[in-house]
Amino acid sequence: MKKLPRPADYFTSNYFSEVDEELCDGCGTCVERCQMGALTLVDNISHVNLDLCIGCGNCVTNCPSNARCLIKKSKEHVPPKDFEKLYTKILMKKKGFIGTLKTLGRMMLGMRI
Ligand code: SF4
Ligand code: SF4
Repeated sequence: MKKLPRPADYFTSNYFSEVDEELCDGCGTCVERCQMGALTLVDNISHVNLDLCIGCGNCVTNCPSNARCLIKKSKEHVPPKDFEKLYTKILMKKKGFIGTLKTLGRMMLGMRI
């Protein structure tokens, strides 16, 4: 995933990492802990590349200065609750609303789809 230009687009985490620059002492622990290589030290302050950050929180739990936290994204992604809802969602995407109704109707009538 790290080889993709924007791996953050492929994860469904609803969070991203942010630093409090006043608290960061530039120890570099978060840079070492981030498995996505999203963090760098610039002028002894930790900075995040949001194209790479997948919101896992590794950097937050290991920061000795409590300078990092996770921020909720403005648009929340809620995954389908079960397989039935997942497959309905996929069907809606592929066939649209009317197509989905037709397909479900055929299924209910025991017809081939
Ligand atoms: S671990 Fe915390 S204090 Fe250390 S560089 Fe990262 S954000 Fe700054
Ligand atoms: S939340 Fe995870 S991916 Fe994002 S900067 Fe922190 S450790 Fe890296």
